[in-house]
Amino acid sequence: MPSWMDDLIFAILPGTCIICEASTHRKLDLCVKCELELPWLNNACLHCSIPLPDGNNVCGQCLFNKPPFTRCYSGFVYKYPIDRLILDFKENQKLLIGKLLATLLLKSFPENFTPPDLLVPIPLHKSALKKRGFNQSLEIAEVLSGNWSVPMDTRNCRRIVETTQQKSLHQKDRANNIRGAFAIEKSYQGERIAIIDDVVTTGATVTEFARLILANGAASTEVICIARTPVQRTGQRSLTDQFLSRFEHQGG
Ligand SMILES: [Zn+2]
Ligand SMILES: [Zn+2]
Repeated sequence: MPSWMDDLIFAILPGTCIICEASTHRKLDLCVKCELELPWLNNACLHCSIPLPDGNNVCGQCLFNKPPFTRCYSGFVYKYPIDRLILDFKENQKLLIGKLLATLLLKSFPENFTPPDLLVPIPLHKSALKKRGFNQSLEIAEVLSGNWSVPMDTRNCRRIVETTQQKSLHQKDRANNIRGAFAIEKSYQGERIAIIDDVVTTGATVTEFARLILANGAASTEVICIARTPVQRTGQRSLTDQFLSRFEHQGG
């Protein structure tokens, strides 16, 4: 939509907050108060972005088994009202909510962030795409791509296996379930690739996809998502404790 049209629509219908329904007085359908109250991701693991208590910067899982991607950027913790908004976006085809979430995500990047060379949204299997009618990750990637003037690759990656719904599985089963689910027909020689997903839960999907992108020549991969679940992965806390206690016992 041309920007003058955007201005015209805003002049006639000033923004209405999608959470409290108050007039927002700005070109965003979210008021300042509701925006401040969102569960922004503050302290998180430097690699996988899982929310961590203050004072911790690497989670137990990443200490012992670093993911193939360099780091994960997430705007929010996956909890109310972000969980509801994402569900509304995906299940009720509210594409404008997706655009709003992506616009908010852009605000969460650190000032020194350098945009990647290419954005690759996680592909949906064709039957899932047919059912939903759109790929939620592509909708998010489009906003980032326009804002950073970075191209998107939506043609060379495919999901070739229709996997069981990941959310119904445990972490180990998720990794097994997703193995071999993607195919890539392109060389990403030397490029810094950002994988775009809506929600990262255990990280099994983005881990598998990042491995494949690196195997196709990428120099590095990063993950960008709207929200990260706060769920502690199996054994994570005990691994962190083990690691910390090892130093304590060495008198450090
Ligand atoms: Zn509001
Ligand atoms: Zn981590």
